[in-house]
Amino acid sequence: MDIVKNLNIVRESLPADVTLVAVSKTKPASMVLSLYQEGQLDFGENKVQDLLAKYEELPDNIRWHMIGHLQSNKVKYIAPFVTLVHGVDSLNLLQTIEKEGMKNKRIIHCLFQMHIASEETKFGLNEEELFTILRSEEYESMRHVCIRGLMGMATFTDDSAKVRKEFRNLKRIFEKVKEKRFFNNTDFSILSMGMSGDYQIALEEGSNMIRVGSLIFGQRNYM
Ligand SMILES: *Cc1c(COP(=O)(O)O)cnc(C)c1O
Repeated sequence: MDIVKNLNIVRESLPADVTLVAVSKTKPASMVLSLYQEGQLDFGENKVQDLLAKYEELPDNIRWHMIGHLQSNKVKYIAPFVTLVHGVDSLNLLQTIEKEGMKNKRIIHCLFQMHIASEETKFGLNEEELFTILRSEEYESMRHVCIRGLMGMATFTDDSAKVRKEFRNLKRIFEKVKEKRFFNNTDFSILSMGMSGDYQIALEEGSNMIRVGSLIFGQRNYM
């Protein structure tokens, strides 16, 4: 398994304005370091403990993305350094991030996670819930979070027409939010969609940030 070669294959297939987040979850820090030495700076983890451990062990200028479901009581561990929180799916969580941003005297960049798949198990907001948050006074008063865009995961299926339809729907919502110019959203520009199995479709449907794990690092072995 040549992970550097895999990284470069994915990179070469990407337009210049697309950010590749290399998803290193369950993989050792040594693998992250090999890709870092190739100039890869964006890495994603889905567990707070793993994100923290790798952050402490690895070079300072790595940009760490929290891509998994985040519990409010764990925000404090990553608030000092996280580059982008992809999985914001409630006002309550956003309020906690705001509070931790204030404590750390920084603005924490976030994406709202939208539920676009037909699987029940996937987290995320629907369109109505998203707009309810965006129109709330609580959101309007926040000064230590910056909503940079949206994230979503398509249904895990071989039916590429279905996947495409779900990504297209997310892009539609993204454009709608962008148009309405909510408060502090001048930097609302990130559409995080696409993983190993569906990132090509996601790019065709307007993604500008993809989160790729197994295609680069190989299969994950969960214990
Ligand atoms: C694991 C994970 C990925 C990467 O998945 P691959 O199929 O291995 O590319 C992307 N996004 C999220 C939210 C994940 O949890």
